[in-house]
Amino acid sequence: MLNVAIHSSRVVLPSVITDATVICSNGKIVEILNGASCPRGFQYQEMFDAVLMPGLIDAHVHVNEPGRTEWEGIATASRAALAGGITTIIDMPLNASPVTTTVEAFNKKMASMKASGLHCNIGFWGGIVPGNANAIEPLIKAGVLGFKAFLTHSGIDEFPNANISDLEKAMSLIARHGLPLLVHAELENDLILPEQTNPQSYSQYLASRPTAWENNAIDVLIKLSAKYKCKTHIVHLSSAEALAAIKSAKTNGVPISVETAPHYIFFNAEDIPDGNTLYKCAPPIRQRQNNEQLRHALNSGLIDFVATDHSPATPGLKGIGTGNYKTAWGGIASLQYLLPATYTAMKPLEPPLTKITKWLCSSPAKLAGLQATKGMIAVGADADLMAWMPEDNYVIQAAATYHRYPIGPYIGKDVFGKVLGTWIAGKRVYDNEKGFSENEGQFIFNKEHV
Ligand SMILES: [Zn+2]
Repeated sequence: MLNVAIHSSRVVLPSVITDATVICSNGKIVEILNGASCPRGFQYQEMFDAVLMPGLIDAHVHVNEPGRTEWEGIATASRAALAGGITTIIDMPLNASPVTTTVEAFNKKMASMKASGLHCNIGFWGGIVPGNANAIEPLIKAGVLGFKAFLTHSGIDEFPNANISDLEKAMSLIARHGLPLLVHAELENDLILPEQTNPQSYSQYLASRPTAWENNAIDVLIKLSAKYKCKTHIVHLSSAEALAAIKSAKTNGVPISVETAPHYIFFNAEDIPDGNTLYKCAPPIRQRQNNEQLRHALNSGLIDFVATDHSPATPGLKGIGTGNYKTAWGGIASLQYLLPATYTAMKPLEPPLTKITKWLCSSPAKLAGLQATKGMIAVGADADLMAWMPEDNYVIQAAATYHRYPIGPYIGKDVFGKVLGTWIAGKRVYDNEKGFSENEGQFIFNKEHV
């Protein structure tokens, strides 16, 4: 049995930061002692004044295994997660191939990942596509934590977007089981868009995915969520114009929640050069004034949390060297940088560490139904932990990036927040000086899993 006592002068408990020792036994937190302390038979680990937090949970990751492991894959994604202080990721039903829209595909995905090496914990979102309503309940029995649908083209032909009647069918079923439906909220309307005459122009790319599409989708989703009492989660919100509708829906008790991604609060369109497709994602990164409103909405709690939408691709697909925003893959590889990107973007608003823990640990745990055991340092919770130094300032290096391809807009950026260590079930799985301890990850299922 693994018995460890981890001390830090800045342990983040749900409502207070304190000098404490977290006592872990058999994978669980069994006691929290004041100050530095080590019960007999426990191995003592001293983290000094590093911040000790619950392991981060990234609820929006595209691992792309099986079928597109040349883009990423669990072995590289889960190592990058550990280096970023992330102990649990929740995988999207695309861009793996086959997509996770049947139990058969789900089993194939798990078998492939198990064989490749599972270095962090992983749970799964199932997929809603036209015509797969009868796969919903079998997928719930198989253990998915909820479902994901698109209202616009997903980027992958194997994962067509749902129409409203598909969503209605899915929502009534999903609501019965208390699971969430996550939706990529862009819905084309009759707006006439300017033509993209210069494929290298960022401003033309930005204009091709207007806020009106997001606002339109969110209005529809709020109505459906209220009608079916289905927990509905807006992924990667980029349009600040939709915040008013979200606020009024939440005030009226509609079960809606929302995440944004680090790139929508870290970068601004004004700073994105033409021809640099590393910044391409959908919805796009918008202007500073819009993003300032997103930052404030996160700070006030209107936006529930941050998830990376880690969506890697090969350098070729990412359009490096072409500068073509029309043809490049839309997606940003960012898993490892969830914490420093979010923290650096929000630092001017001086959020307390308890708030950062909410954004990156307890709120994503709640969306996935894992709040009883994950996302907090508390007696009885899983001993999934991470330690970091908010004050440490550095430049993100390709050589220290563990994604399959160390490319993306964060490379070379100046950030605050260095991850020193990560623990899964009480075992140190990442040490920024000594490296990794591998294969400690577990699959995570919902409560109805049989
Ligand atoms: Zn995504």
